[in-house]
Amino acid sequence: MNLPATVPSFWSPVVGGLSPYVPGEQPKIDRLVKLNTNENPYPPSPRVVEAIRSAAERDLQLYPDPESVRLRETIAAYHGLDAGQVFVGNGSDEVLGHAFFAFFQQAGAPLLMPDISYSFYKVYCGLYAIPVRTVPLDARLQVDVEGFAPESGLRYAGAVVAHPNAPTGSPMTLEQIERLLALHPDRVVLVDEAYVDFGSPSAIGLIDRHPNLLVVHTLSKSRSLAGLRVGFACGQRHLIEGLERVKNSFNSYPLDRLATVGAMAAFEDEAWFQDTRRRVMASRESLARDLEASGFEVVPSQANFVFVRHPSQDAATLALALRRHGVLVRHFATPRIAQYLRISVGTPEQCEALLRALRVLLAEAPAA
Ligand SMILES: *Cc1c(COP(=O)(O)O)cnc(C)c1O
Repeated sequence: MNLPATVPSFWSPVVGGLSPYVPGEQPKIDRLVKLNTNENPYPPSPRVVEAIRSAAERDLQLYPDPESVRLRETIAAYHGLDAGQVFVGNGSDEVLGHAFFAFFQQAGAPLLMPDISYSFYKVYCGLYAIPVRTVPLDARLQVDVEGFAPESGLRYAGAVVAHPNAPTGSPMTLEQIERLLALHPDRVVLVDEAYVDFGSPSAIGLIDRHPNLLVVHTLSKSRSLAGLRVGFACGQRHLIEGLERVKNSFNSYPLDRLATVGAMAAFEDEAWFQDTRRRVMASRESLARDLEASGFEVVPSQANFVFVRHPSQDAATLALALRRHGVLVRHFATPRIAQYLRISVGTPEQCEALLRALRVLLAEAPAA
């Protein structure tokens, strides 16, 4: 888009300084094998589609329930909580944004996060003028929990981690999460569990013991609903009230009627959820083995993606070459991880297409 040079002068001054998040490519051509944005390769439960179809035939002229009570009750029952301990939003990105606004604007105190993590965290910090203090992952690309210990005399806004981490796929243990909670007892520790359903224990069970724990989930990955935009947060009532105050100062109705019933139906089809997540986990293990057999180093993953590097192939070059072969993967031109590729776990057929393309490319490539 070519905007006339004069347009930015209409912007609020802060807008020119924002660094917006750049999502992975959503290609307009459908022949591509799409392994770049960690979507689930399987469709959602047919019950979700049925619920949306029947809801579309009634009451769309009416606003939805601003408090999404029935969906919050469904999620609460699934996780053994009260509805008052659940907050829902238009995708977990929106929930995260509200959480950063609600808890981490603390008089200029910095927010702690790993140096390599979900890049949206720094974007929210830019939007809300929250200083960032990064804690380097260790040499094995694992979160260094002791690196989150407060320095004496310094105040912090809180801490945010992804469990498992993105884009590495490494989980934390619940003991490590409890240690983090103990290091910052008077600040919120946000645990983003976007990928937790692919094989890690959730921190939701720690909520009753920790007033500073907020756990954020999404239906985009393990429940195959990236297109519906539903995410949620779980925490003690006082944290949920903080989120509700922000949400009700921004948009009373973040979840429409179709998203609400679709999300409820997803929680009501446990068999579908278990079957699809098990398939993804099984494909992850065989994909990791096959990539190792092709010479890649694979970071052990508990997510629906693998984070890999080849000792003699440039990652950015490989990503471009794969695209020419019709396979999309994600490359981050970020210090420390610029030689890695993040590859979403697809169906067995999609994984095979990736491996076939890689075999061709590695055979062509001069050994470095
Ligand atoms: C995908 C992802 C999200 C965003 O999920 P949506 O619910 O689709 O907005 C949040 N956090 C992490 C770490 C993710 O990978």
